[in-house]
Amino acid sequence: MQKTELRNYTRDELEAIVKKSGGNKADSFSLFECLYRQEIKDFKDIKGINLKVVKAIETNYSLNALKVCAKQESKKDKTQKLLLALADGKKTETVIIPSGHGYSACISSQAGCACGCAFCATGKIGFKRDLTVSEITGQYMAAKKASGGELNNIIFMGMGEPFLNFDNLIKSINILTDHKGFAFPQTKITISTCGIAPKIKALADSGLRVNLAVSIVAADTKLRNKLMPVNRKFPLPVVIEAVKYYNKITGKQVFFEYILFDGINDRAEDALTFYDLIKDTDCKVNLIVYNTVKDIKLKPPQDVKAKLFQKILVDKGIRTYQRREKGADISAACGQLAGEA
Ligand code: SF4
Repeated sequence: MQKTELRNYTRDELEAIVKKSGGNKADSFSLFECLYRQEIKDFKDIKGINLKVVKAIETNYSLNALKVCAKQESKKDKTQKLLLALADGKKTETVIIPSGHGYSACISSQAGCACGCAFCATGKIGFKRDLTVSEITGQYMAAKKASGGELNNIIFMGMGEPFLNFDNLIKSINILTDHKGFAFPQTKITISTCGIAPKIKALADSGLRVNLAVSIVAADTKLRNKLMPVNRKFPLPVVIEAVKYYNKITGKQVFFEYILFDGINDRAEDALTFYDLIKDTDCKVNLIVYNTVKDIKLKPPQDVKAKLFQKILVDKGIRTYQRREKGADISAACGQLAGEA
């Protein structure tokens, strides 16, 4: 019988497992703390629970830490990229970015991605599979270690579209934020989506109050269809309607991300079309200067154009930041992850 990974379960689910194995609620608290406070690697390290109960759990469940099989560090900005081996031999990547007084972890939700965005290395390799809950929270544990315990932001923006692995994403966030475990603040977690509109609404209804970032990239329908094929399934008006719903239910601002490409979407009129699209939402904008990707012909914009684009939005009253991506020299920046070190 194939054993299931014990870190795939939330605290409530663990309680049911412990009870079925002959333990009680207090045992399930102890187990949860062992898994996420002590970060134990072996069943023999479980403390505070009757040995018979531990043995019964071990019969049906496994405890495997993710293996870091390669690590690169940027010489320019100290960004680290971890290549992680999954149990079935597939790989995923996690990026640890210095930010302010600590680090941000860019965590993957899938191996590969089915969305096929024209500018993205992950999109080029296609979809392999969804990551399990333990593979998602395991990345957090690996990133925390690599950051020397100084991790203060989590961004679901690595490989894959987080909302296409919605149930595992929500479970992972529930585990990461559980006060009996890592107690990571919801306010320091951001989910970045390419615009899976129904799941934007589902996140609003989930009761979680994390941050949401929506990647727009082009406000013109024809251009967005080309750059982000997901637009054919969830067109911009549907995405904007979902964002307004998110604003209303959560009371939170949404970040719109707009990657600038030279001569494609960086003109003044593109900025005005973008403004028209988002003007009735409660939002901030992150402008991202494109990072070149091998075998993709798109280029970063001229500096002067990026500045003008930003000025147009700022003059219209939209808080707009320009993000210079870190880790580009080790292919760890936005859109560059391809599952290889
Ligand atoms: S940008 Fe995100 S959603 Fe688009 S292909 Fe890349 S990983 Fe997938």
